[in-house]
This record gives sequence, C-alpha cells and structure tokens, in this order.
Amino acid sequence: MTRTVLALMLAVAAGVPLAAQIDPRTALLERGAWDALRAGRAHAAAEGFREALAADPKNARLHLGAGLAAALERRDRDAMDAFERALALDAKLTQARALLGQVQYRFGDFAGAIRTYDTLISLAPDDRDAQATVDRWRRELELHDRMQHAVSSHFTVSFEGPAEAALAAEALEVLDRAYWRIGLLLGGSYPNEPVPVVLYTGEQFRDITRSPSWAAGAYDGIIRVPMRGAVDNPKELDRVLSHEFTHALIRGLAPRGVPAWLNEGLATALESGDLGWAEKQVRSQSKPVPLRELQSGFGRLTGDQAQLAYATSALAARRLIEEAGGFAIANLLRDLGEGVDFETAFLHRIQRPFADW
Ligand SMILES: [Zn+2]
Repeated sequence: MTRTVLALMLAVAAGVPLAAQIDPRTALLERGAWDALRAGRAHAAAEGFREALAADPKNARLHLGAGLAAALERRDRDAMDAFERALALDAKLTQARALLGQVQYRFGDFAGAIRTYDTLISLAPDDRDAQATVDRWRRELELHDRMQHAVSSHFTVSFEGPAEAALAAEALEVLDRAYWRIGLLLGGSYPNEPVPVVLYTGEQFRDITRSPSWAAGAYDGIIRVPMRGAVDNPKELDRVLSHEFTHALIRGLAPRGVPAWLNEGLATALESGDLGWAEKQVRSQSKPVPLRELQSGFGRLTGDQAQLAYATSALAARRLIEEAGGFAIANLLRDLGEGVDFETAFLHRIQRPFADW
C-alpha cells in the first residue's frame, strides 16, 4: 500500500467525530467499528459497519467507515462503492471524496481519480495537498499516454521513446527469466494476469513515486523502475526487476497482512546474486535489529537504516526458505492474505512458533 493511502485512512479514522444517534445499539456498533479500524482490525471493523448500516442505512458516516474497512482489506471495488454511497448521502463529506480518489488511483482508474480530486478541489480550493496530488496524477497520465509498450505473455513494459526500446526488450527478457525462477522458488506460484512495468527516467520516477532517494524501484500494483545506470549495467537491471517482480508475486498471494520484513526480505533474498553484502552489514552491527521492529514499510528510513533493514530481512527470509521451503512460504502468504493473524499462520505453515524462530 502506498504511504499516502494508508496515512489518509488512518487520519480519517482518527478524526471522525461521533454524532449522537437515535438508536443506542447502532451507536455502540459504530463506536466499536471505528475502534477496530484504529487498531488495524479491518475485518472486525467491516462487520461492525455492516451491522450498523443494516439499522441505519442512510448514515453517510457509516458508509465512509465501511469504505475505509474495505480499502484496508484491499477490497477496492467495495470501498469505491461505499465512498460513492457516502457522497450520495452527503456531498460535503470531503474525507469520503479524498479516499475515493486515492482508491480509484490505486485501482488504476487514473481518469476517475483525477475527476474526483477536481471536484474535491472545487469544494475546497485551499487544499494544497489535493492540488499537488492531482497535478502529479495528471503528469503521470500524460506521460503514460505517450508511452510505447513491449508485451510478453506475463508482462507489459511501457517506455517513453525509441531510445528506450532496446532496454525495454531486454527488461522483458530479464522479467520472463525472473518469472519462472522466482515462481518456482515460491512453490510454483505465478501471477494470474500480466504484470505492468513502467520504465522511467530518474526524474520521472522520483516525481511520480515520491520514493526515497535510495530506492532503485517501486511496486504499487505497477512495477516502476528508473533507468539510471541500468543501461550499462545488466546485472543491476536484473537485480531490480527480480526484486520488484517478487513484490508483485507476493501481492498476488497476499493482498494484505504481510509484514514488511517478510515482503522486503523475500524480494531481496530472491534477487539474483548472493547475500554476502547483507551478512557483512549485519555482522558490522553490535546489536541485531529484531524483526518485530520491521513490520511496516521501509520508505521512512534513511539510506543507512534502510540498508540494515533490508540486510536483516533478507537473511531472515533466506533462512525461512532454507528451513521451510518455498511451498510453505507461499501457503503462509496465502493465509495472511485471507486474514489469518501472523503468529497463527506461522505456527501452522512453518510448524514452529514465530517467537522461538
Ligand atoms: Zn522492495
């Protein structure tokens, strides 16, 4: 999940005031559902909002909450429907509009997201963040509209001009190799649909993804890669594409619930090349970083901290692959995606309590 969507969701969940309700039971259900959302228990929240809506279907705030819970569970269509219903009942509910735009964007409906944010800005002309967001989306849409595409059965690679055509063809070859190699390592799991890949200049990449300066690629449903250095360094191209493809594969198995160390660790461990650098990194530390501290994304870390986080995660993931095998890991990921909590899924699939491991 991109940081923006999650940050926006949590801000909304934290800030929604509870208005007095006619029916105390519905009020109680609603309070419980918002509490569940704030605690990150999206499924319980979804149930709570569903029950409350059965009693009070014209309550826009309940639809907003139901949409948030759905968005956290990555049921994007349900989320968009719920936000639309909230807005139909209360067109001034700007939080629902902002979230609708973010989910439309994440879902790949760029034009819809831009329309939603244009309306948002027409109602709140001082919202600078919203303006900056929609400007960035427009630049991205314009860029993608003028891009060319190279296609294989498993990937579509978009690139800007004839100068990048050779690199795009090379990227396709590298990706197809990664597809089979990594899919096999993860117990024969493959994405159901072709994975979209976009090659950017360094500047476009930073503008569109707003990634930290150390990032060599990004995955948010689309594999996004800056071409810096890749032209004369095929090994680096292979490393970056293998890493981001692993994220795509993991997302296919588990749209949610995967701790950052496992997600980044698998992506880093399954890059081509050895992990000597990671062993050196971790050895040079006086104290190891506990995996429990590496639950959420690494995007907020500085370059040095990030390196250590990736090294620690990669070594843990490699150990997991060696001890449990790719098949068990794929099953662990599927369980997490279905909402099983991490400790339970780990014990069941890896056959050891996570705390001991
Ligand atoms: Zn990564």
